Amino acid sequence: MIRLYNTKTRGKVDFETRERGKVGMYVCGPTVYNYIHIGNARTFISFDVIRRYLMWRGFDVTFVQNVTDVDDKIIGKANEEGRSAAEVAAEYTEAFIEDMHAAGVLDPDIRPKATEEIPSMIELIQELVDGGHAYEVDGDVYFSVRSFPAYGELSGRNIDEMECGHRELRADGKGIEDRKRDPLDFALWKAAKPGEPAWDSPWGQGRPGWHIECSAMSRKYLGLPFDIHGGGGDLVFPHHENERAQSEAACGCTFANYWMHGGMLQINSEKMSKSLGNFKLLRDVLKTTDAAVLRFLMLQTHYRSPLDFSEDRLAEAGAALGRIKNAVKNLDWLLENAQDIPSPLDLRAFMERTRAAKMAFILAMDDDFNTCKALGEVFDFIADVNAQTAGKTLSLADVPPVREARDLVVDLLGVLGVDVVADDAAAEGEGEAYPPEVVALAAEVAGYDGACASEAVDALLAARTEARAAKDWARADAVRDGLTGLGFVIEDTPQGARVSYEG
Ligand SMILES: [Zn+2]
Repeated sequence: MIRLYNTKTRGKVDFETRERGKVGMYVCGPTVYNYIHIGNARTFISFDVIRRYLMWRGFDVTFVQNVTDVDDKIIGKANEEGRSAAEVAAEYTEAFIEDMHAAGVLDPDIRPKATEEIPSMIELIQELVDGGHAYEVDGDVYFSVRSFPAYGELSGRNIDEMECGHRELRADGKGIEDRKRDPLDFALWKAAKPGEPAWDSPWGQGRPGWHIECSAMSRKYLGLPFDIHGGGGDLVFPHHENERAQSEAACGCTFANYWMHGGMLQINSEKMSKSLGNFKLLRDVLKTTDAAVLRFLMLQTHYRSPLDFSEDRLAEAGAALGRIKNAVKNLDWLLENAQDIPSPLDLRAFMERTRAAKMAFILAMDDDFNTCKALGEVFDFIADVNAQTAGKTLSLADVPPVREARDLVVDLLGVLGVDVVADDAAAEGEGEAYPPEVVALAAEVAGYDGACASEAVDALLAARTEARAAKDWARADAVRDGLTGLGFVIEDTPQGARVSYEG
């Protein structure tokens, strides 16, 4: 049974889906007026992991994520740059999708854009007006917070203690508006100002407020109540509180059964902010960091805890991921070189350990998606497998259970969105990670005349084997010393020489 932390009840609860085997999930998307930073990316990667895990556990997940493509910030940027809001929104929507692909985040099943969903928002606002939960003033429509007695429950705030943080400029730009019946009330529909994008509505030309978008889109695509509503922790108030108030006031039912929120991301233990100059865009980080390493760093912290991002932690994550990849490569090598000999393993215990590792991973992830613990279980498993197999030659009888262990590691990391298998592209990447000096070394002692580092290594190994066969020890040693000097480790086994690069 999966248990998850529900923000609304402030505790872990059993996860019971609305419909057996199916999960409807809504995660608030970006407001597209700039590139996303790694704090945003953390939220999207966290929910990507949660979604992948639910799918792996057999749920048919419908994942909806909106794009807020009409907003004050977009209009502000468009005015600054002398172009249309639609142009700004289109540019950054595309950039967002590119960034998500680069980060290995799965596309949502449905990605509605606010500007294409105006009719369903107008419909919802009209229901709220008809039900006495909203009112119009000069083309603006406001939600009446005090008409929804449960307001504040999600974020744990007392309505009478709330500051009136919702004061806004009048629609005509003159002074602070004072037309709301209560300072807590918030806009559902904003009357058009000259030059702004606007749509026809029963209240005149205007555009929707931010909160109503998500209420309208989630209802349209998932129906109410849906299972999981997610987002960054900074969205709990006012955005999610307002979404919930609108949706539940209109339908008289529960909006979302479970509310999940991700923790914040800090840089070197400081809040990330433009004023501190430590603001990091996802696309900049990915210029120098493999997306799998960034994800691995994030997986090492529980999604609800604050995550500290630093170059040191990134390097540690890269090293940890490298250990897993190496372990898989070692197992591949052992499997390829199995012999017709008696088994050196305690096969029953080995298979039992594999089953236990899978169970331990599931238990960790079922407990509110504890990726940090789940990774720990994978590392423990790898350590045990290494202890069992190191320095041994596998028998043919060992191949199925060892392959099962190897496949389990690949599969479990894959569930978290990390590909640890060296496919062709990755193998090339590995060659690129070799020091370029290895090509010169191969040219000098092995007569290699190409330019590819991994080919150069192969040529050097072949030259060494040849030299040893010819008892040309000086040349064999020259090859070995040259490789060792560049950071390679050579291991002689009954099946021939193996080389790995330690850097
Ligand atoms: Zn939202």
